[in-house]
Amino acid sequence: MSSAVEGEAVTAAGAAHKRWMREAIRAAREAELAGEVPVGTCVVVDDEVVAIAGNRTRTDCDPTAHAEIVALREAAQRVGNYRLASATVYSTIEPCAMCAGALIQARVPRLVYGAKDDRAGAVDSHFGICNSNQLNHRVAVVSGILESECRELMQEFFRTRRTDEG
Ligand code: ZN
Repeated sequence: MSSAVEGEAVTAAGAAHKRWMREAIRAAREAELAGEVPVGTCVVVDDEVVAIAGNRTRTDCDPTAHAEIVALREAAQRVGNYRLASATVYSTIEPCAMCAGALIQARVPRLVYGAKDDRAGAVDSHFGICNSNQLNHRVAVVSGILESECRELMQEFFRTRRTDEG
């Protein structure tokens, strides 16, 4: 492959990543309107969205209802398989230990996320769950897609909350 073609392929992949990340960001904004922490996830199979979700922990009174979990459940139902072996999962924020674990359970081959979560991220910040010798599956990870937009959503949310709480 010539470097020019390779360059185009990389650009095309980057454009697709941004396109799907925008869908995840939209879901994060909707979650925020419902009083949730603004995290959104979009699951794509064969260039089509099969699930899109924001956080629902307060709405559903469910500690496991993170955007990734809600979207993975919906995607599995949609494709009729609990293994999502050809899915790419787009998440605005680096997944936590529970959600990274769910990606392993679902055998998701690719994760694309926007901004790191220094506190709870379990992919690059802590634990390295998506690339662990002790687990039977690895997830290829792309990070930093629309990073500042994804991070600002979270920072804005927590800043507003702190101000509200005085
Ligand atoms: Zn999570």
